[in-house]
Amino acid sequence: MERTTFNDLGLIEPILKALVEEGYTHPTPIQAQAIPHLAQGRDLLGCAQTGTGKTAAFAIPILQELHQNPAAGKKAIRTLILTPTRELAIQIGESFTSYGRHLGLKHTVIFGGVGQKPQTDALHRGVDIVVATPGRLLDLMSQGYVHLNGLEIFVLDEADRMLDMGFIHDVKKVIAKLPAKRQTLFFSATMPPEIAKLANSILTNPVKVEVAPQSTTAEKVDQHLYFVDRTDKNKLLLHLLEGDTIREALIFTRTKHGANKVAKLLVQAGHGAEAIHGNKSQSARQQALKNFKEGKLRAWWPRTSQRAASTSMASRTSSTSTSRTSPRHTCIALAAQAAPVPAGVPSASATTRRRNSSATSSA
Ligand code: AMP
Repeated sequence: MERTTFNDLGLIEPILKALVEEGYTHPTPIQAQAIPHLAQGRDLLGCAQTGTGKTAAFAIPILQELHQNPAAGKKAIRTLILTPTRELAIQIGESFTSYGRHLGLKHTVIFGGVGQKPQTDALHRGVDIVVATPGRLLDLMSQGYVHLNGLEIFVLDEADRMLDMGFIHDVKKVIAKLPAKRQTLFFSATMPPEIAKLANSILTNPVKVEVAPQSTTAEKVDQHLYFVDRTDKNKLLLHLLEGDTIREALIFTRTKHGANKVAKLLVQAGHGAEAIHGNKSQSARQQALKNFKEGKLRAWWPRTSQRAASTSMASRTSSTSTSRTSPRHTCIALAAQAAPVPAGVPSASATTRRRNSSATSSA
C-alpha cells in the first residue's frame, strides 16, 4: 500500500515548504490519521505518547485553519494549547515557529518560574496562538492579561500527566472560561477513569485516534534492565559511560539530592554533566538543556519519577537530539536489588554499542 504523503493531506504550500525544510518526508501515523479530521473541524481524542509526532499532528492543521480563515476585527487569542511542563510548552512553541515560519501568524509561550513582563508584553502586542502551562495562565487570566472569549481551538496536551502532577483542577478552571462553541483536541498517553470522564465532558462527537496501545513504551527505545546492588550503581553507571558509544545520556533520579550527587560523581569522573531539578532556577534549567542540545554536556540529570523514566521520558530524548535521522535510543534501568546481573540480560558493552544512541537511566 502507498504511504500517505503530506500532499495527500491537503496542506497549503507554505506549510509543505516548512515541512520539507524540517526534513520530514512522510506524516507519522498520528499525523496521517488526525490531520484530515482536524481540518474538517472535528473534535479529537488522541491516545498518543510524546515521540509519535503528535505536536505536528495538531500544530499543522491549526496553523492551516488560522491562516486560511483570518479573524475579522480585533485581534484575539484564537488557539490555546495547555501542556503540563515549561519544557513541553517551549518545545511546542518551537514547533509552531518551525511549521509556521512561512505564515504570518503569531504565538507566544506562557509558563511560570520566570518574570511575567515579556509574556504580558507579547500578549499586549497580540497573538493568535498561546501555548501555556495552567498555573501561570490562570494567574495572567486573573490579572486581566489573557482573554479567551474569542477562542476557536483548544488543545489539552498530556492530560494524564496534568492529573499526575496535580494540575487537573487548574485545567478545569481554565476550561470553565472557554467559549462553549470551539474545536477541542484532547491528548493523553493513558486513559485513567478521571481523564476519560474529563474527555467525555469536553469533547463533542470526537474522532478517536490511537497510535500506541495504552501504557506501552516508545517504539524507538531499546530497553535493558540491570539488577545491581545499590552500592554498585555508580560503578555500573561509570562503566556504561566508558568509551564513546553513548554519546548523550539522560539520567533520572528519584530525589533532587540524588541528582546532585550523581552529577557530581560524573563530573569528577571527567564527564560533562549537570543536574536539573526544581531547586534550580528556570534559566539554569534552560541553560543546561541548551548545553545538552548543543552537545556540550554528555549527561544531564533531570529528576523525575521512575514511572515517567520508564515510559514517556525515554522517548523525549528524540526531541532533544540534534540529529534529524531519528536514531534509536537505549533505555537502561538500574534497579537496586541484591542480585548480580542475571544471565540473559545483555552486558553493558553488548547493549550499548550503538552509534548515535542516547541512554536514559533511572539511577
Ligand atoms: P512529538 O511526538 O510531537 O514530541 O514529536 C517527536 C519528534 O518527531 C520531534 O522531534 C519532531 O520534530 C519529529 N517529527 C514529527 N513529525 C515528524 C515527521 N513527519 N517526520 C519526521 N520527524 C517528525
